[in-house]
Amino acid sequence: MERIYLGMGSNLADPAEQLRSAVDALAHLPCTTLVGVSAFYQSDSLLPGQPRYTNAVAALDSTLAPLELLDALQAIENDQGRERLERWGPRTLDLDILLFGDRLIDEPRLKVPHYHMQERAFVLYPLAELAPESLRLADGRTLADLLAACPFVGLERITSN
Ligand code: ATP
Ligand code: CA
Ligand code: CA
Repeated sequence: MERIYLGMGSNLADPAEQLRSAVDALAHLPCTTLVGVSAFYQSDSLLPGQPRYTNAVAALDSTLAPLELLDALQAIENDQGRERLERWGPRTLDLDILLFGDRLIDEPRLKVPHYHMQERAFVLYPLAELAPESLRLADGRTLADLLAACPFVGLERITSN
C-alpha cells in the first residue's frame, strides 16, 4: 500500500462539477482507498486566452502499480470527455500523479514526481492541506521548502467543494 497524491484540474464544462465527478470516480478505483481531497482553488490559466482553472489535490492509498493507476486515471479523463487537441489546451479534466510513495519513476509515459509540481502554486497549496510540510522529495527539499519558494499569488481558495 502506498500513499499517492494526485493533481486534478479542469477549465471546461463546469470545472467544479468535473472535479466532483473525478473524486467520485477515484473513490471507486479498484485496490484503492480515497484518503482525502483538498479544497478547490481557482487561478488564471498559465497560457493566455483560456478559461480560469479549478484545481485540487487528492490523496489515495493504493496497491495498484504506477502504470495501472495512470491507465485508470486516463480512462477517467476520457470518460469525462477529455480531448487531446493541443498540448496544454483547455480540458474538462486533467489528473496528474504528483507523488507515488517515495518512488522516482522515469518511464516514457510516467515521470514521478510530476516534473512541474515544484513551481505550481495550484499544486503545492492544495497538497499542503493533505500532506505534512515535512514531506521530503527525492531531491531533499521538503514541502515546506517548496511552499516558501512559491508564493500564494493568483490563487483563490473556494471553501466549498
Ligand atoms: P503537464 O504535464 O505540464 O501538467 P498536461 O497535464 O496537460 O501537462 P497531458 O496532455 O495531460 O499533459 O499528459 C501528457 C502525458 O504526460 C500523458 O499521456 C502521460 O503519459 C504523461 N505523464 C508523464 N508523467 C505523468 C504523471 N506524473 N502524471 C500523469 N501523466 C504523466
Ligand atoms: Ca497537468
Ligand atoms: Ca496530465
